[in-house]
Amino acid sequence: MAIALHPTVDQGIKKGIENFAGGTLRCKCSSDPVEVQVASQVLFNHACGCTKCWKPAGALFSVVGVVPREKLSVVAHGEKLKVVDEKALIQRHACTACGTHLYGRIENKDHAFYGLDFIHTELSSDAGWDGPGFAAFVSSIIESGTPPSLMAQVRQSLRDQGLEPYDCLSPALMDILSTHSAKAKGTYREA
Ligand SMILES: [Zn+2]
Ligand SMILES: [Zn+2]
Repeated sequence: MAIALHPTVDQGIKKGIENFAGGTLRCKCSSDPVEVQVASQVLFNHACGCTKCWKPAGALFSVVGVVPREKLSVVAHGEKLKVVDEKALIQRHACTACGTHLYGRIENKDHAFYGLDFIHTELSSDAGWDGPGFAAFVSSIIESGTPPSLMAQVRQSLRDQGLEPYDCLSPALMDILSTHSAKAKGTYREA
């Protein structure tokens, strides 16, 4: 039986269009949807197994990527947005009517990812977004109820779709985090 990872992964991952300039994200409300305009291609788009990212119904993973925060603006029905968990590092702004997460924002200026907003490109009907390129926090799906015995099959399914599974972030992103920490600690060295 095939495993439902995420609709945009299971149906084959799309490559982005060159010079794609972004699009509009919409929540799932049939009337007065929240709209968020993004004037950028998505970066570091990936499948995420953590318990905090918004996942469509039935999917084991979320698909999430980042854009510069100055490239993102709420253009309709921002009054329906509320932060899911004020204490979380990423402030996920969700629609109070349908529950969809429109964007996540880091307000801690000392964080390595400050300045980047987290988005789900599947909320946009514009074609040209880069599909996910890896899978992060894969083991965390156990916390949302996946039996540990299924993990080998899940990791194989991810690889079959071209997504290398990692149990934290990808090496490139972990290096960015550690470089930021090294600079903060004064232990950073050039080669
Ligand atoms: Zn909504
Ligand atoms: Zn996540």
